[in-house]
Amino acid sequence: MNINIFCKIGKISLQILMILVVPILLYLSVFAQNKLDIIVIDAGHGGKDPGTIGISGIKEKDIVLPVALKFGELVQKSFPEMKVIYTRSKDDYPEVKERTIRANNDRAKLFISIHANYKKQEETDKKGFEIYILNKERFPEAVQATTDENNLLMREESGKDDISEYIFSSLVQTGYQKYSEVLASKLQYHFSETTEIPSRGVMQAGYWVIVGSSMPSVLVECGYLSDPLEEKYLSSPQGQDSIARALFDAFVSYKKYYEMY
Ligand SMILES: [Zn+2]
Repeated sequence: MNINIFCKIGKISLQILMILVVPILLYLSVFAQNKLDIIVIDAGHGGKDPGTIGISGIKEKDIVLPVALKFGELVQKSFPEMKVIYTRSKDDYPEVKERTIRANNDRAKLFISIHANYKKQEETDKKGFEIYILNKERFPEAVQATTDENNLLMREESGKDDISEYIFSSLVQTGYQKYSEVLASKLQYHFSETTEIPSRGVMQAGYWVIVGSSMPSVLVECGYLSDPLEEKYLSSPQGQDSIARALFDAFVSYKKYYEMY
């Protein structure tokens, strides 16, 4: 008699527990999918590849590395559970393709590539930061522009056969367009708020580092090393701190958006 009652109570408790626990577990699993918990920070160039050289001789690779590390430190300090992956944390040169393969293999949720720019010879007085994303409508143009611009690099580093792989990756990347656009607009806002570099806006291109990664991706050109003031600013620890802060503030705002939708 008593045993039956205990069994019944046990069954009812188990049912109540299942009713309560299952939705929580389901909610948590859905929530976990939307959690921005892995970020790849890519300091452009490095090692044998100096990137562009500023008018007073500073190398792009030596500016973007401290910015990347400072940005990563801010992320790690505020979000200790976040996995922060650097494509390079010293003066070495991981190949461009290697950087995105690693990000894809690690199932990163966000890829940010950091660069600095130099005006073309025929251009005068060019300055400001630029945020690059891949634009779906202009996808064929972006592929053309990239295969033109990066042809040599791709042949050297990836092999000719990778052009088709590249185009496939581009199609995958268009699926993340909305997220990349949101991040780009947040970056534009926070760079304008926090740094002394003027905005040149959000641009479209098909750089391999954006296209090859299977996650929302942006490439940030922090300013022009051909401009004396911007070169000085980007070379200074204070300038690099404020760039890292702008990247971080945009990241925090984007993280909230990403985890909400
Ligand atoms: Zn660069």
